[in-house]
Amino acid sequence: MNADEFRVHGKELIDYIADYLENIRTRKVFPNDKKPGFLRELIPNSAPIDGEAWPNILQDVEDVILPGVTHWQSPHMHAYFPALTSYPSMLGDMLSNAINAIGFTWASSPASTELEIIVMNWLGKMIGLPDEFLLLNNESKGGGVIQTTASEATLTCLLAGRARMIKRYEKKITEFDPAELNARFVAYCSNQAHSSVEKAGLIGLVKTRLLEPDNNLSLRGETLLQAIKEDRENGLIPFWVCATLGSTGACSFDNLAEIGAVCESENLWLHVDAAYAGSAFICPEFRIWLKGIDKADSIAFNPSKWLMVHFDCTAMWIRDSTALHSSFVVNPLYLQHENSGLAVDYMHWQIPLSRRFRALKLWFVIRNYGITGLQKHIREGVRLARKFELLVLSDKRFEIPAVRHLGLVTFRLKGKNELTEELLKRTNSRGNIHCVPASLPGNIYIIRFTVTSQYTTGEDIVKDWNEIKTVADQILREVEN
Ligand code: PLP
Repeated sequence: MNADEFRVHGKELIDYIADYLENIRTRKVFPNDKKPGFLRELIPNSAPIDGEAWPNILQDVEDVILPGVTHWQSPHMHAYFPALTSYPSMLGDMLSNAINAIGFTWASSPASTELEIIVMNWLGKMIGLPDEFLLLNNESKGGGVIQTTASEATLTCLLAGRARMIKRYEKKITEFDPAELNARFVAYCSNQAHSSVEKAGLIGLVKTRLLEPDNNLSLRGETLLQAIKEDRENGLIPFWVCATLGSTGACSFDNLAEIGAVCESENLWLHVDAAYAGSAFICPEFRIWLKGIDKADSIAFNPSKWLMVHFDCTAMWIRDSTALHSSFVVNPLYLQHENSGLAVDYMHWQIPLSRRFRALKLWFVIRNYGITGLQKHIREGVRLARKFELLVLSDKRFEIPAVRHLGLVTFRLKGKNELTEELLKRTNSRGNIHCVPASLPGNIYIIRFTVTSQYTTGEDIVKDWNEIKTVADQILREVEN
């Protein structure tokens, strides 16, 4: 494809994308008729010898690919957490893809690094982070960085916390063996934390204790303190805690103020995983859960979830980036440059070397919507979730087993788990709305209903509730007979 053809096909593709999104509600949100392996029958099993004409390729997208896609932007998508996109975000990535500068060091693409620093300062201020997390001048120890996923941010911060603790022991003991220390390290999180926290522990070869939250699914300081004491008595070395703000199952919030106080007094690294809920902190009324953030060492959230910056984009801030450097600095000659050690080299802040120019899409979205535009979007999502919650509460056959926070409503049919399991199975198999389950303490099976799409309206919420009720009517009628 040459530049002239690109101009034509690129513009066609822009139209195709705009049509796709404008008409998204006409597509079935979930491809309920597809079975594993379906694409093998529709696509040749070897690559073409000669290049194909572009129109044929695009036609196959419509005929073969899109019918098998789950339409995450659909107004009837209520599964997982949002993975929103927006036009300024897409334009940002289009430009980033064209430039394709790999900004691992400052010198490998100076503007990529500089823009990322600035836009991460903007975003940090937008969610009310203390200045220590920002990179405001040459004296700043903290700063923000864009990671690929929240999982990667958690692992990165676990490794940084581990490096910090190893350093402390290095000074204290004479026969120093980091591997022996590592075997005694223990990390903590709530049993409501995302599985990626446990995974970080597996990769870091450290023990992870999943602690019981209180009745509001909130991990409390006292529970953490008790666990730390027990472990110290057993010769283990507590080193790292992950507090979750907005858990995956029910969007519950750990008590950051209490946990922060414990981490401060016990000298542990405190990481905050706010993957979903972090976007809401741009609205001052939702920052109540951030109380205690001044005691944290790191925090991450995904603008790629709710803030309309499409995947991938995880915003991570750290109070003292030297801890990252202790974990990740390797300095081969071919990566050194005139400003090494003076400028930020983001390769020292992350696991991979190479990195995309992701700051562009974040910059475009923040500038194009403005803070008020983004706040309006978040508040609308919360308003619609509240609407759905009221509909569920109006029907005595249903219950809401966990307090609703932000855009996620958990609900179930009263009675045995099997009823709710059947409700979810049948609802998803109709393909008109899409939800996923979760399990709450006490083996309570729930359906999660997240307001995800910016195309969802009040009418959609009513329609989706009626869809759920229709299936529930059917199931309960069968049970009665
Ligand atoms: N943490 C929480 C609280 C989440 O809800 C999720 C995913 O939804 C993750 C971490 C993992 O996010 P990612 O896919 O960016 O690794």
